[in-house]
Amino acid sequence: MSDCIFCKIVAGEIPSRKVYEDEDVLAFHDVNPAAPVHFLIIPKRHVASLETCDSGHRDILGRLLLLAPKLAREQGLANGFKTVINTGVDGGQLVMHLHVHVLGGSKLQHV
Ligand code: AMP
Repeated sequence: MSDCIFCKIVAGEIPSRKVYEDEDVLAFHDVNPAAPVHFLIIPKRHVASLETCDSGHRDILGRLLLLAPKLAREQGLANGFKTVINTGVDGGQLVMHLHVHVLGGSKLQHV
């Protein structure tokens, strides 16, 4: 998607502070952190939101979620972390490219 900011990060057209990368997944620090540690895990291939996923996305969704604890550990979040997937307008999704927020490093508000 040519006008998608996260696709531009994947393409290297916009810089990011990378946390992890493989063939299908990229993780990078959030530019406006809401916690001492706050990074995003995204599929490299454009997926607009959780709302647009179907059974064909099972593998990538599993990989995004399984990376969360691994990367959280590597980022020093030994006491736990929060994962958030904002979906759609009411869900507060600002960037329409699926992403998992991983937040930690302090006691976070319970939801
Ligand atoms: P959401 O509201 O779930 O769509 O969250 C989008 C997140 O992307 C926000 O936390 C933003 O701070 C973050 N964000 C937007 N642009 C960038 C960028 N260029 N690099 C890193 N994070 C970004």
